[in-house]
Amino acid sequence: TDLSKIRNFSIIAHIDHGKSTLADRLIEFCGAIEARDMKAQLLDNMDIERERGITIKAQTVRLNYNAKDGETYQLNLMDTPGHVDFAYEVSRSLAACEGSLLVVDASQGVEAQTLANVYQALDANHEIVPVLNKVDLPAADVDRVKTQIEDVIGLDASDAVEISAKTGLNIEGVLEAIVARLPSPKGDREAPLQALIVDSWYDAYLGVIILVRVFNGELKLGQKVRFMATGATRELDRVGIFTPKKVAVDRLGPGEMGFVTAAIKDIRDTKVGDTITEERRLAEKPLAGFKPSIPVVFCGLFPADAADFEHLRDSLGKLALNDASFQYETESSAALGFGFRCGFLGLLHLEIIQERLEREFDLDLITTAPSVVYKMFMTDGTVLEMHNPADMPDVVKIDHIEEPWIKATIMLPDEYLGGVLALCTERRGIQVDLTYVGGRAMLVYELPLNEVVFDFYDRLKSISRGYASFDYHLEGYREGDLVKMSILVNAEPVDALSMIVHRSQAEYRGRQLCERLKDLIPRHLFKIPIQAAIGAKVIARETIAALRKDVLAKCYGGDISRKRKLLDKQKEGKKRMRQFGEVEIPQSAFIAALKMG
Ligand code: GDP
Ligand code: MG
Repeated sequence: TDLSKIRNFSIIAHIDHGKSTLADRLIEFCGAIEARDMKAQLLDNMDIERERGITIKAQTVRLNYNAKDGETYQLNLMDTPGHVDFAYEVSRSLAACEGSLLVVDASQGVEAQTLANVYQALDANHEIVPVLNKVDLPAADVDRVKTQIEDVIGLDASDAVEISAKTGLNIEGVLEAIVARLPSPKGDREAPLQALIVDSWYDAYLGVIILVRVFNGELKLGQKVRFMATGATRELDRVGIFTPKKVAVDRLGPGEMGFVTAAIKDIRDTKVGDTITEERRLAEKPLAGFKPSIPVVFCGLFPADAADFEHLRDSLGKLALNDASFQYETESSAALGFGFRCGFLGLLHLEIIQERLEREFDLDLITTAPSVVYKMFMTDGTVLEMHNPADMPDVVKIDHIEEPWIKATIMLPDEYLGGVLALCTERRGIQVDLTYVGGRAMLVYELPLNEVVFDFYDRLKSISRGYASFDYHLEGYREGDLVKMSILVNAEPVDALSMIVHRSQAEYRGRQLCERLKDLIPRHLFKIPIQAAIGAKVIARETIAALRKDVLAKCYGGDISRKRKLLDKQKEGKKRMRQFGEVEIPQSAFIAALKMG
């Protein structure tokens, strides 16, 4: 295809502003033409199930658009990868396109992720077309939102496209804007092949599927290619595009996007961001690629039922194949038995993996407190990275500790400003900026990541009644007065409950945790002290009183079926208890205790 007839674009938006709905409308609008013009055959063994898989994972769709200028354009819509909404994941899609549609909900306005996404699109040198969605809503205020886009983002919004993705209003306007205002790709068909690996995932039928954007040269069926980062060579056994169905094509030229397969079994062989070149005629150097995604939040995942350990290992393996940014290794804990230490790109990523394990793999999990990666500067001059509070070295050997800091952008209606400022201060935040735009405040804060990982987002949402939006990126490491807080139950340390905290927060967190445990651990026949300690120094303490005989007596008599239920419950509960010395702690106590806030 003539390069001037190609447009590659992403849709960026704050969550719920209508990105998916608009994508559907664009596909629908172009669909009729597609059916007539495209004679390519559907890939073999394609079935409904896999089609469902595609909608989860297909991140690019090729559309043929018959524009008003009488020409047919090839539009490649690049979705931002499905399962992680955070900024680092967006960058890879942006690297594959020349432009972005910025969707803003006209009844809501600019939110924190709108802004974060725009900065990234600008970083990727994108041309940006603002699209005001949901103009069908009575609450839509097009003028106010246009002003916001101009004031907050600094984009000219005078020719923003006003649409309703829901009713289909002015979808053609969006397509015309793509053609008229976004640049066409550049590239040289005669040059040695350079294709960027935008994403890859494992498909049970086809092996690893690689999503590519060709910059120079051509990708062809049967071609022998080389992956520049790993040096591996393969023969391409499929070349295709998504329409959104997988459709085979014989080649992908400069500026085009699509997929290839090459009988690859292990997703780790296809590094996202790597360059594919031709074995016969190697490119001089790889494409710039993009920054690798590094896990920043770690936590332990343990099966609630120890018998599920192998099932959990299996499930983690399957998830990792689909998600190269997710890391895990085995871990054992005195409290929780065998499990895995897992690394995530952020909290949302953590939550999603946890949810997928529970939903898709039917696992019952115990999650330990999320921890960030600390840098331990040891007195002997070495630097250790610590992912797990249980691994904290002897304090006398530590010179100082550094912790990661983030820069956060929070947008909110200004009536909630006071509460949010207090929250940020409580979390050791440093205010960088505060501006007002059209009744909304935009706050920029530097915060230690470890103060954000527990419950910051939940607190923010509750303080602002759901109206605040939040986005962040990692800024770097700074020294902090950090200590390891241990929890002792009946004088036994419980490793799964230990955590790294700032010294100024230790007492508050310790007290909170002890109070919770007091309510969560059932009474025994003896008194149970619960203590929080830094080293040998106890900073908080609670005591669970001993069970009295007459309390037991009260359980007898009464409704027989109720009693049966109670007994069954106890039996069930018994299985889920963990023994600590003389004390049995229900597993639910770990989960509940760690839900800080
Ligand atoms: P995404 O998170 O950006 O992908 O947002 P979705 O496309 O999933 O849309 C979020 C919600 O907004 C859904 O309930 C949509 O039905 C709704 N929505 C999307 N576009 C419009 C629109 O133009 N008008 C109205 N009234 N609702 C819309
Ligand atoms: Mg969506």
